[in-house]
Amino acid sequence: MPQNMRKPNNPTPKEWLANKVSLEYIADYKPFNFVDGEGIRCSLYVSGCLFNCPGCYNVAAQNFHYGQPYTQELENQIIEDMRKPYVQGLTLLGGEPFLNTQVCLKLCKRIRKEFGDHKDIWSWSGYTWEELMQESYDKLRLLSLIDILVDGRFLESQKDLTLQFRGSANQRIIDVPKSLAQNRVVIWDRLVH
Ligand code: SF4
Repeated sequence: MPQNMRKPNNPTPKEWLANKVSLEYIADYKPFNFVDGEGIRCSLYVSGCLFNCPGCYNVAAQNFHYGQPYTQELENQIIEDMRKPYVQGLTLLGGEPFLNTQVCLKLCKRIRKEFGDHKDIWSWSGYTWEELMQESYDKLRLLSLIDILVDGRFLESQKDLTLQFRGSANQRIIDVPKSLAQNRVVIWDRLVH
């Protein structure tokens, strides 16, 4: 099938589990950037994603073996970087953060312990909000620690480079605490376009 005819993979609920696929590898860590969400942020790119979206922005990081193992030293470095007063928060990208919950849960719990709600956590995911609602406990636990979720696969047919923080029009910037409290998707109130 030609590449542009292919569609991303669509898992059934709980078909993909982090404890079956993740090797706890990290593709990249970028401190002090201002493109992965609001404000100055520290971004962790986890390795491994099964959605296989045509046009994926980070094909190399679809491989669960890509990069290096997540270490305590890296975690400590992330926490020290985030201590800087000008850092607004952490961003999780990939790869797929929700298929690397071992790493992401450990880091997000530490961030909440160190900083409470003074730093925010954004995550991108190929899963939609509705899919995550039917997913495994570890994914829901990770969601509960996140402030903003940019959800859904990258769809080339809906690609739009003018969109804020997302690549295709199906993706949404979701306020997670409000959405969980209201049991419906609540879009981020600082969305511009
Ligand atoms: S969900 Fe994201 S990382 Fe995964 S294949 Fe799609 S674009 Fe790439």
